[in-house]
Amino acid sequence: MMKDIDYQKIFHEIATELGDIDNLGEVATYIPELGKVNPAKFGIHLTTVGMNHFSFGDSDEAFSIQSISKVLSLTLALKLIGKDVWQRVGVEPSGSPFNSLVQLEYEKGIPRNPFINAGAIVVCDILVSCLNNPKEEFIEFIRHISGIQSIDYNFAVAESEKQTGFRNYAVANFMKSFGNIHNDVEPVLDFYCHLCSIEMSCQELTQTFLFLASGGVNPVTNEVVISPERSKRINSVMQMCGFYDEAGEFAFKTGLPGKSGVGGGIVAIHPGEYCITVWSPRLNPNGNSYKGMKVLEAITTKTQSSIF
Ligand code: GLU
Repeated sequence: MMKDIDYQKIFHEIATELGDIDNLGEVATYIPELGKVNPAKFGIHLTTVGMNHFSFGDSDEAFSIQSISKVLSLTLALKLIGKDVWQRVGVEPSGSPFNSLVQLEYEKGIPRNPFINAGAIVVCDILVSCLNNPKEEFIEFIRHISGIQSIDYNFAVAESEKQTGFRNYAVANFMKSFGNIHNDVEPVLDFYCHLCSIEMSCQELTQTFLFLASGGVNPVTNEVVISPERSKRINSVMQMCGFYDEAGEFAFKTGLPGKSGVGGGIVAIHPGEYCITVWSPRLNPNGNSYKGMKVLEAITTKTQSSIF
């Protein structure tokens, strides 16, 4: 167990030190609804496995979690069909942009990992096959593991994604041509667009993901969300694949498993220690929060704690 760290003090120091980067990066606008966010928003929430909370800035304000939800859909798929998930999607970093089509051609429709769009769409296909009402049952799963009943989809964002998701439709159809999408493309993409549209605050995301910092167990309720073995594997995939084609850079600079989304959120896990969420909507060229990446690097550097 790490020594007691005054994260509150560290957040203030980092916010002051990084203040001059506030105008760097661009808010995602390829999904028109996402372009409406105030780019100056900035929040942090850290909860230790011992349930100590540290917050900074706009940590209570809900935002579009986008690809961060792919960790939760993978968790549910692993609960439902176990290791058979890995017959349909790999666990290797892609080194490609999140919406890339190129690898799918020569890897015969098997996506590199569950966190690029292609892999997340396969996971959605698995859930559409297993669940009677995928959207309702998935959001109920998140409400259950988080204990937060108000978590919901943003239907305007989901619709905006459907209207503009030409590459995602292309990816899904391409995988279907290889036999790796079992359902019709439309319900799978409808589910995918909805799970990307979920809104949560930094505080809510941290509370939801805390099970991955504590061996798969919800430290509040002591409920087993997922086995320790699978918790380890989810963290491993986050470490290797959680930041599009910048996963190596995040491991190099921050040294924690994590997952980002184009809404500007990043969740990171220090197994056995804490879960942290940072939100700042301006993105770097790789689609990761510009300031969020810097903040997490500064936190593990200042506290001299990472998994390495
Ligand atoms: N809904 C987004 C898309 O499919 C997710 C992107 C992301 O956060 O990585 O383009």
